[in-house]
Amino acid sequence: MVAVSLQEGAIVLDPFSVRMVLGVITLTLIVLASVSSRRLRSACVDRSACTGWWRVALLLFFAGNFAFLLNGTSFLAWANPPGKALIVAGAFSIWAGARTLRGRKVSGWQLAPAPLIICLTSAMDGAETSLWSGGLVYLGMTAAGLGMAAAELWFAKPAQSRVTKFLAVIAALTSLYYLGRAITFVVEGPDGNSFRTFFGYAPAALMHLILLVSLSFTINALSNSHLITRLRERAERDHLTGLLNRGAFLDLAEKELAGPANHRGAALILGDLDYFKAVNDEHGHAAGDAALCAFAEACTASVRSTDLVGRYGGEEFILFLPGATQQRAEAIASEISRRLSARADPEGLPYPTVSYGVTSTGAKAQDLKFLIGVADAALYEAKAQGRNRVVGADSVDPLPTFFGSP
Ligand code: GH3
Ligand code: MG
Ligand code: MG
Repeated sequence: MVAVSLQEGAIVLDPFSVRMVLGVITLTLIVLASVSSRRLRSACVDRSACTGWWRVALLLFFAGNFAFLLNGTSFLAWANPPGKALIVAGAFSIWAGARTLRGRKVSGWQLAPAPLIICLTSAMDGAETSLWSGGLVYLGMTAAGLGMAAAELWFAKPAQSRVTKFLAVIAALTSLYYLGRAITFVVEGPDGNSFRTFFGYAPAALMHLILLVSLSFTINALSNSHLITRLRERAERDHLTGLLNRGAFLDLAEKELAGPANHRGAALILGDLDYFKAVNDEHGHAAGDAALCAFAEACTASVRSTDLVGRYGGEEFILFLPGATQQRAEAIASEISRRLSARADPEGLPYPTVSYGVTSTGAKAQDLKFLIGVADAALYEAKAQGRNRVVGADSVDPLPTFFGSP
């Protein structure tokens, strides 16, 4: 097979070789996409709907180009109309994937009409003799599918904006290219000079390649960012309650304390469930876990989304409230207990009460470790006073060891 021949000094690529090269590269991209999806599955990370649709698009483009390999053989009439339908279906699959990025779903019936129409139009337009049967419908529909995909991608969620905007530009360029193909096809037909030079099989294959490589790159980039987000969530969150774990809480609270917003001051609450060991001993570990989750929910329901809530360890929880006063933080601690006692345990068991130690920084910056030490001393005092209460650090006098021995 000769891929390149020289005719009067110009390089001419034969269609079969170009399609073979395109097919091999598409197949490679499909294999790479499936390897990366296996890696995600083994990391127990869900694959997103959009990358699923785009893997389907790669397969459809591969199958469509494979069908076009039979152009020029006696199978033309059988292979060419489905080939065009597969390419159009590929373009609309990119659109479907892009829609899911904006939380919109696409059902099969929305995708089926365009490929069906092009298949029928091509079959009834002399498909047994002409490569370009139904050509205008094919070119117009591919341009439409890619144009719609570009629009959806451009307005996708900001979290994925850079990579999806890149794909939006490539999809828009390919759509415009197909529009140019359609117009030139109407103006001068498939045998016209401009059509053959700019919109024939070789430049079109090059455009396909750019689109498919970009699509594969985007699939990989989105899958990786999904994986990183999920792994970061797992690394930062407590598995049982979904709250920040101790390490993540300390990191974020340190940053808040050192940040420019800290001139407003901040408050810190330590909460410890009372006689929690007895809950486990009397009602089982599962009941203890349910109480921990209920308390975590009461905490997040009582604070602002910008406040930090963490599981400090076991049945001890920690809250960092930027901009909150001592009085406000003590009111929030009481509110958490009120919410917990108002909740009904599914088994009808009462949830344990909670003791709190609360401290605040005022306007001057303070070290996080020091604040936690002060709140811990107040919590110790709350336990000593009989539990189920909020004790402010200002009422704990004198503060133990944290200030050192006199
Ligand atoms: P106090 O009022 O003085 O705080 O008494 P307490 O019983 O709450 O404290 P203690 O430190 O004696 O017991 C804490 C218990 O918390 C012991 C431990 O088994 C239990 N615990 C720690 N983590 C978990 C968990 O993830 N799930 C469950 N169910 N129990 C836990
Ligand atoms: Mg306890
Ligand atoms: Mg404890």
